[in-house]
Amino acid sequence: MTAPTTASRLVARARRALGDLEARTRPLNADTEAALARRWEELPAAVRTPSQLLGQRSSGCEGTHGVFPRCNFACSPCYLGSEANQVRTDAAHTVAEIDAQMSYLRDARGADQHAQLIGGEVTLLGPEAHAEALETMMAHQRKPMSMSHGDFDYDYLKRLAINPDGTRRFDFLRFAGHFDSLMRGRRDINRPRHEADLHPFRARFVGHFERLEREHGVAFDLAHNMTVTPANIDQVSEVVRGCLDLRFGMMSFQPAAYVGNPRRWSGDFHAVSMDSVWAEIEAAVGTRIPYEHVQMGDPRCNRSCHGLIAQRHWVPILDDRDPRDLAVRDRFLATFRSFDFERPPLTLAIALARVLVRDPLALRGAPGWAWRLARRLGWRRLLFGHPRALTFVVHAFMDAKVVTPAWELMERGERAEDPEIRAAQERLAACSYAMAHPDQDRLVPACVQHAVLDASENVRLRELLPISHTRA
Ligand code: SF4
Repeated sequence: MTAPTTASRLVARARRALGDLEARTRPLNADTEAALARRWEELPAAVRTPSQLLGQRSSGCEGTHGVFPRCNFACSPCYLGSEANQVRTDAAHTVAEIDAQMSYLRDARGADQHAQLIGGEVTLLGPEAHAEALETMMAHQRKPMSMSHGDFDYDYLKRLAINPDGTRRFDFLRFAGHFDSLMRGRRDINRPRHEADLHPFRARFVGHFERLEREHGVAFDLAHNMTVTPANIDQVSEVVRGCLDLRFGMMSFQPAAYVGNPRRWSGDFHAVSMDSVWAEIEAAVGTRIPYEHVQMGDPRCNRSCHGLIAQRHWVPILDDRDPRDLAVRDRFLATFRSFDFERPPLTLAIALARVLVRDPLALRGAPGWAWRLARRLGWRRLLFGHPRALTFVVHAFMDAKVVTPAWELMERGERAEDPEIRAAQERLAACSYAMAHPDQDRLVPACVQHAVLDASENVRLRELLPISHTRA
């Protein structure tokens, strides 16, 4: 056999490089396209609307479960079951479980989907194990977001993101910090009396990431989460106003539901509606916030609006009353389906060029939309006001007492007679937030996980990872 010549080795290397470039700049992902098509088919007809993101742009959000159930806070309400704190946080268990769950989600839901590292307090993992968990999720092409109470020091974040030799372990981190006055246990403010008392802690949380970016070049995307009950609904506006200058990319509000630990329930949670929370957000930003033109799953579960903010002036990125903006939305959803915009700039530019080669009219209407958006925001703010994206979200979980019978009937393939239970079935069928059970070869809605499955899962975990074995 003759040895390959230098020229043939160069040709082989060039072929490999071209193949790699072709894959990285491919506009759409075939697996994700198939997952989107399946998701669209599964959706109830009532939510298969032009505004629907599920099945058109996203196969749904994802979350981990049973990977680190413990938390060192005591909140009212709390979605964790009472057994959760009797399970030890165990890095090996966490990473192995995450690997199995994310692998399943990659197969079922395609690539590049957003996945929450959730199910207890993530920082109890320690920075090394936390980093390993994120790397495991990314290895399965998930976009992980760590869900935390945000009560950690800069040193923790630095050890998570930066290797001991000073190089970056991550170029980009996504974190959600949960801050509200219903939480108990935060250092320096164990029992906040008002939401405003937490503003310095919100600022400190964001400040950690700004410092990490400044000192080590790690970019970030932050969400602010808040549980809403009758005790703090009238302070939602205060929270939004207090956060407008902080670099949160999302503010998400969860009206409380009767799920999780019943000893942590108090007051009439049903007195808080999506409308009442939305009205508070609108009062804070001083404008109407449209939401019906872009929908994730069932409108009884989710409400959201993507916008831009500069100098405390917030505008929606789409004007729901302008048919030209709605046409741009339709064209975007038809063209960019599984397109991943989170790529290095040159790779992104080539991928976009490939979209245009395939469909030269793909961006028709986009310049006009950009012009109108810039005018809404104001040219001065756009150019000098450091504009950034800010999305408002309300996500309303369901009570365990409706989810349990709804799911039992769905498991038997039956439709509920009771209108309340049937509504829960409709919402579960259009669920946008799934958790994986690879051992049972299925995904379940997070509502089902918390209302039906968490209790027995935590009992099993308590036997597997008893707290008495915890080492100091
Ligand atoms: S987890 Fe529950 S509330 Fe959330 S989208 Fe799914 S069914 Fe709706």
